Amino acid sequence: MSEVMNVAKIFGEDVFNDTVMQERLPKKVYRDLKKMIQEGKELDLATADVIAHEMKEWAIEKGATHYTHWFQPLTGVTAEKHDSFISAPMENGKVLMSFSGKELIKGEPDASSFPSGGLRATFEARGYTAWDCTSPAFVRHDAAGATLCIPTAFCSYTGEALDQKTPLLRSMQAINEQSLRLLRLFGNETAKKVTPSVGPEQEYFLVDAEKFMQRKDLIYTGRTLFGAMPPKGQELDDHYFGTIRQRIAGFMKDVNEELWKVGVTAKTQHNEVAPAQHELAPIYAECNVAVDHNHLVMQTLKRVACQHGMKCLLHEKPFAGVNGSGKHNNWSLTTDEGKNLLDPGKAPHENIQFLLVLTCILKAVDEHADLLRESAADPGNDHRLGANEAPPAIISVFLGEQLEDVIEQLISTGEATHSLKEGALETGVDTLPDVKKDATDRNRTSPFAFTGNKFEFRMVGSRDSIAAPNVVLNTIVAEAFAEACEVLEKADDFHKAVHDLIKKYATEHHRIVFNGDGYAEEWVAEAKRRGLPNIKSMVEAIPALTTDKAIKLFERFHVFTEAELRSRAEIKYENYAKNINIEAKTMIDMASKQIIPAIMKYTKTLADTVLAVREAGVDASVQAEALEEVTALLKETSDALRALEEITEEAGSMEEGKEQAEFFKFNVFPAMDALRAPVDKLEMIVDKEAWPMPSYGDLIFEV
Ligand code: ADP
Ligand code: MG
Repeated sequence: MSEVMNVAKIFGEDVFNDTVMQERLPKKVYRDLKKMIQEGKELDLATADVIAHEMKEWAIEKGATHYTHWFQPLTGVTAEKHDSFISAPMENGKVLMSFSGKELIKGEPDASSFPSGGLRATFEARGYTAWDCTSPAFVRHDAAGATLCIPTAFCSYTGEALDQKTPLLRSMQAINEQSLRLLRLFGNETAKKVTPSVGPEQEYFLVDAEKFMQRKDLIYTGRTLFGAMPPKGQELDDHYFGTIRQRIAGFMKDVNEELWKVGVTAKTQHNEVAPAQHELAPIYAECNVAVDHNHLVMQTLKRVACQHGMKCLLHEKPFAGVNGSGKHNNWSLTTDEGKNLLDPGKAPHENIQFLLVLTCILKAVDEHADLLRESAADPGNDHRLGANEAPPAIISVFLGEQLEDVIEQLISTGEATHSLKEGALETGVDTLPDVKKDATDRNRTSPFAFTGNKFEFRMVGSRDSIAAPNVVLNTIVAEAFAEACEVLEKADDFHKAVHDLIKKYATEHHRIVFNGDGYAEEWVAEAKRRGLPNIKSMVEAIPALTTDKAIKLFERFHVFTEAELRSRAEIKYENYAKNINIEAKTMIDMASKQIIPAIMKYTKTLADTVLAVREAGVDASVQAEALEEVTALLKETSDALRALEEITEEAGSMEEGKEQAEFFKFNVFPAMDALRAPVDKLEMIVDKEAWPMPSYGDLIFEV
């Protein structure tokens, strides 16, 4: 008999959230903590001691034995170091469970093994984790038992950011300040805080664990490095929104339950375009919480998949020729009074504040398209962006019919006098209710689309953290707001000045608006004509981090120092090189130890057949032809393997950095493709029984 899940009861049960704090903390301590969270004040140690004690008692009631500072170093995944609550044994040999304010606020993991891009000399490998009290602590249950996880930022001894979270928190401060400044100009004196709201939609694949374990490429790199398309691909689109199968349904039920317990608002789930591909979206949350939660989502998907005999693939392109996975980063700005600055209202043309916000965003995206593109660059995403798949590598903004019309009125006459109305959706069936069509329809091909009351940045890779894209969004929009405020604060006639400014921004940055088909060939040419950057790969995107423009931007808003930016660029080059190196070595291993030996065996069988057939006195030309074809491809494979070995070795002997990364991209990567081509052809003609690993068909149609 299956239990009934009481969602309202389990939601957040493992989170040290506001309700728990209010219940358990002394009134004054609770007030101080709230003040610190809302106004960014510092917490004194005595107060921290009280909070730590209550947090520990609560966690122990939940079964926790350990605590960890949970942080996001530049490895792309989260890190943690576990300490148990036990203190030194007392005279009677017993131990007490203790957790001090100091331990809550600050941790000191051995930082030498995390990437720092030269920021922190290894001889004084000290890094500190500091409690991010704006993201609640939670207890996580897994094979290790129960652990109290404390979300933290990770910095060097001198305060340089070594993680994703520190710059994110800094960028949230910047956008808060500049948004408030803008609101004051429009007469809002009451809002105290503006926070970016973020809702990331997560795509992923599920495959059978046993089959996964038979593929070294999946084990070591998260994607298939060889593999021919099965006769049935995704052409039929019959998977999209298809009925969720039982095995998957059971998995999703457990994922939801685990996420709800730790306070992640898992909301929608459905099948995606490709077979075996799915999506999970939570309800949006404050930016830094959304980033933390997205990490929890990724970890939970992986863990629960294992419990169901499956593996969850988060790689951007696990299978060539099948749709890849991304993450849609929905972003808006919300005041503490609950107002969304990106909500156009019923009559956008009259909503001057909205039009200013909108045109500032157009300006920000146009001026810093290279940074946004960079924020979505990771090795896996190179297979999506700029390859023949969604979305294109060119940044453009989709506004939809209604806003585009308003913007066009502004540009041509300087005044917008009307807004196109939303229509009713006519189904032609009397018994169906009238469904109102959104005034902004959907354009699935745009990398940066306005969807009603938020922007949806669709370039982010499925495996990547959403921290970097949000750092960029928050900071570039903060800059645009600041520049607008500088003009408007000095204006004698605010009304006239704001109209002029909106018209100016709309006109100057209209080139970034594109409402057409982003996948079309013509768009590439058109974008070039408009002067929009088309940055095709990660190594070509990284330089955006260290342009004068970027340094000026990030330093002005105290999000990154120049040194931090340079170190991040270094880390990204290294990361790229390491990734491709692992992929190349895995291909070499598979080709030489599995594929070539299997084909040799197969040619022996074919040769025996040819001989036997000839001996029987009949025509063996078909068999002989097959043998010739396989042997020719085997030779091609063997040559390509040797070439890949040589070039990979050469790449490995280079000094780490930009040049090495470029060498991997422009020399090693093509050599990998050259090895894959004959192998994939072989897979199509060799007996299925002779092939040494599960095929695409086995992996994606038989979960
Ligand atoms: P889609 O049609 O793209 O799947 P949804 O309406 O399902 O869009 O929303 C996708 C994500 O956007 C969800 O995580 C949702 O919570 C989030 N979202 C909705 N409104 C906002 C907003 N104002 N700001 C940020 N995110 C939002
Ligand atoms: Mg979406």
